[in-house]
Amino acid sequence: PSAGMADTAESQKVVIVGGGLVGSLAACMFSQRGYRVDLFEYRNDPRLSAVSQGRSINLAMSRRARAALGLVGLEGELLRHGIAMKARMIHDLEGGTREIPYDARTNQCIYSVGRKFLNDVLLSAAEKRSNVRLLFGHKMTGGSLDEGRVEFERTEGGTGGPKAKVKAVEAVGDLVVGCDGAFSSLRRLFMKKPMFNFSQTYIEHGYMELRIPPTADGEFAMPPNFLHIWPRGEFMMIALPNQDRSWTVTLFMPFAQFEAITTEAELLAFFGQHFADAVPLLGEDALVGDFFRSKPQPLVSVKCRPYHAGRALLLGDAAHAMVPFYGQGMNAGFEDVRLLSGLLDGLGGSPAGLADVLRRFSEHRNADAEAICDLAMYNYVEMRDLVNRPSFLLRKALDNALYAVLPDVWVPLYNSVTFSDMRYSECVRNRVWQDQVIRGVLVALLACAALLGLVAFVKA
Ligand code: FAD
Repeated sequence: PSAGMADTAESQKVVIVGGGLVGSLAACMFSQRGYRVDLFEYRNDPRLSAVSQGRSINLAMSRRARAALGLVGLEGELLRHGIAMKARMIHDLEGGTREIPYDARTNQCIYSVGRKFLNDVLLSAAEKRSNVRLLFGHKMTGGSLDEGRVEFERTEGGTGGPKAKVKAVEAVGDLVVGCDGAFSSLRRLFMKKPMFNFSQTYIEHGYMELRIPPTADGEFAMPPNFLHIWPRGEFMMIALPNQDRSWTVTLFMPFAQFEAITTEAELLAFFGQHFADAVPLLGEDALVGDFFRSKPQPLVSVKCRPYHAGRALLLGDAAHAMVPFYGQGMNAGFEDVRLLSGLLDGLGGSPAGLADVLRRFSEHRNADAEAICDLAMYNYVEMRDLVNRPSFLLRKALDNALYAVLPDVWVPLYNSVTFSDMRYSECVRNRVWQDQVIRGVLVALLACAALLGLVAFVKA
């Protein structure tokens, strides 16, 4: 219909572009609400392949993702699979470790979950519903946002394989949802619309994934309920536990530094100097093999506005990709789906309702998405450098003490981002006034000390 959108969910069709984490969750949410859903994914069905394609093997899942998964009845299943991480474990240069709990007051945890497992579970949950069709091997190539029309190239005989044949396919929806990631093809159509703002920033650092296998007796090689961090100022390494008792280790470092390591001897000398305690766990041969087989991957932050145009909406990384240092990219994308669902709750049967929901989603979400993109950028400095500084540890101790006595008033930034549903922009505002209070108290203390000193001096 061109004058308005159809007025019951059952009579409306949602076309989802991208069947990654956010697209497959969105398919569950829309189908649960009664919409007919066609999900088009470029890759072949990931459930049919043993290895996970693409980025990070595991992810840190926290409150926002859990709440969204709860909406479609999957929180329990994914939590059972996840491995709780209750604290950061910081590894110093000498191989010593110390813990920094994520939530000293109520012991909340973040969870390490496998990307492939999560995607597989979400796709299977969507597929179980009779009103969902999953169409793999479909690459979006063009379309019209105003008509809700999307064009795809369908590859038969395996994406890119020698027998691959390409066919053009078209889909039309009352709503088209772009969940096709940081380099979204749907977003390319938005670029032609007036008043659409877009920016992307690559950081100077790339990442490379390495692996610590289970020990000979099948155990974790390090204490499992932690996110391990080797902060080294300009660069850092982290490790998250996997279900099979291995660790996915990620090295974040300037590209120039990756490039400077060209031989086995240089690599082992570098690791021996900066990550000596990890070398026996990684294994020298495996480390050398993994390092020289892979290429460091870039990290990009994307902001755009608005998230809707015509009959289309962008969600997840397509709307707001961020660097991974707050562990919030997927969490924020899942929260998009939960917020959209909340707005659809109030839709009623109004024919113009869906257009209004899209507009309200854009308006509500933009400031929050940009706030978490900025926080993620800031947290890189915190993770690789500031965690080593006494001023950081003092501030953390002060935050925790105030949070313990005033839990409703003084929620530290990390806790509000990770363990609450507070709007991201509100988390930032909170931090600003907390900084002002601390600065004010410090100035007052210094003034008192100076005054006391002066009195003592005059009396003497
Ligand atoms: P994607 O996962 O990128 O999925 C997009 C899908 O669209 C893909 O399946 C792709 O094949 C498909 N697609 C693309 N183009 C087309 C097309 N033209 N036609 C059809 N389909 C298409 N987040 C966290 O919350 N916690 C973490 O700990 C965390 N760690 C991370 C670590 C790293 C190293 C990185 C890079 C990211 C991390 N993230 C983390 C962020 C998280 O990976 C993303 O936010 C999340 O994957 C976004 O999901 P998405 O579905 O929007 O996009």
